[in-house]
Amino acid sequence: MFRKILIANRGEIALRVICACKELGIRTVAVYSEADSAALHVRFADEAICIGPPRIAESYLNIASIISAAEITDAEAIHPGYGFLSENPRFAEVCESSKLTFIGPSPDVIRLMGDKDQARAKMAELGLPALPGSGVLRSEEEAEEEARRIGYPVIVKAAAGGGGRGMRIIRSPKEIPFILRTAQAEAEAAFGSPAVYFEKYLSSPRHIEFQVMGDSNGKLVHLGERECTIQRRHQKLVEESPSTQIDDETRERVGAQVVEVLTKIGYTNAGTVEFLMDEDRELYFLEMNTRIQVEHPVTEMVTGFDLVKQQIRIAAGERLPAEWERVRLTGHAIECRICAEDPETFIPCAGTITGLNVPGGPGVRVDRAIYTECVVPPYYDSLVAKLICHGCDRSEAIHRMRRALEMFILEGISTLIPLHERIMHDPDFRAGRFNTGFLDRYAPAGLKAEVPAASAASR
Ligand code: ADP
Repeated sequence: MFRKILIANRGEIALRVICACKELGIRTVAVYSEADSAALHVRFADEAICIGPPRIAESYLNIASIISAAEITDAEAIHPGYGFLSENPRFAEVCESSKLTFIGPSPDVIRLMGDKDQARAKMAELGLPALPGSGVLRSEEEAEEEARRIGYPVIVKAAAGGGGRGMRIIRSPKEIPFILRTAQAEAEAAFGSPAVYFEKYLSSPRHIEFQVMGDSNGKLVHLGERECTIQRRHQKLVEESPSTQIDDETRERVGAQVVEVLTKIGYTNAGTVEFLMDEDRELYFLEMNTRIQVEHPVTEMVTGFDLVKQQIRIAAGERLPAEWERVRLTGHAIECRICAEDPETFIPCAGTITGLNVPGGPGVRVDRAIYTECVVPPYYDSLVAKLICHGCDRSEAIHRMRRALEMFILEGISTLIPLHERIMHDPDFRAGRFNTGFLDRYAPAGLKAEVPAASAASR
């Protein structure tokens, strides 16, 4: 097992990794920007190194500073968390060439899945159905031809995209020239590549994803699904496991398909295969995330497994324990993302937390890095806490979430707590009747507003 791990992240996920390391008896190194010197991940790590100014390009995305920090502190491995460098194949390669273990899959697999268009083609070739779509579009003429072949409406996406950004819907040929050019320019600005492609647009899909974990001996398992359909601007806000739409037979069948395909490509460590479900309950491959996800706690609560500790064990060469092959989902878990945002406009809100009460009691878990009097800086993602509730069934999980939200006091900044309360009381949500457009009824103005640049940059 490793003696020391560096955590190349901040916020609640950096603390989550520190928890796993402490339980495994591993020493930790935090890295932080000048804006985070008073952050909890800095306080609870055994060592901490400042890696630069607040701007993420100069700190949390600064590969040279992070590798130097690992070398100075004699760390043996790096956990990237989610976001930032977690899906950057170059970073995984630099770790390898610096004799540091990158806690995640191989750089080749990260690169394959990071190109969403290539990933779709590969997964379809291996047997996972994808929505009809195009390759990377090279001209307006080609775009028109492809859109006609796929059938309107189509959605244009950045091949290197992520975080729900840069997607646009095209409903008729006359919209192609403008939207295509805008999408290419946006993709270039946000992801450094103008490559975009089309996919058939589903008007009322549900988002369902399968969690996997694979070891370096070729053993790979799935841990059931999560439903992440409640979204704003294509970004998840509420996640749950299991999904009301997946019965045991479907879970077993799709899970087995996912395992077969990922075993073929030699996938290791934690990963998530995302699908869209159409109105006929058919599942179509959307993309694969080659890292731990924000919503991993719901899977931990229904399986009883610790995904982050397992990631570390696998990176250290251990085999998956036999229990992981006999996974059973027990009860129901729901996560609400508590973001520092205005609940109507979704405009991020930085500031000082002046009052805080964190709920507890049976079946409640809160992953967070906030404390009373801490400052939520404006430079990073707006997620400040995750509230996860487990119950013996979905109804108990919802009732528990309602009372936990009521007992969650967070003063000094605006948060999405009031919106989550409305969702948990919504009869359609309670009945499991929703699709990705569900939140349009609550905050239509905010849903259409542009994401301010500072917040978008750190997602
Ligand atoms: P990102 O990598 O930016 O997160 P995804 O491809 O994973 O983008 O899609 C994010 C969300 O966008 C989905 O959960 C869904 O709500 C919406 N979306 C993506 N593709 C489609 C599609 N073809 N039809 C309808 N909605 C889509």
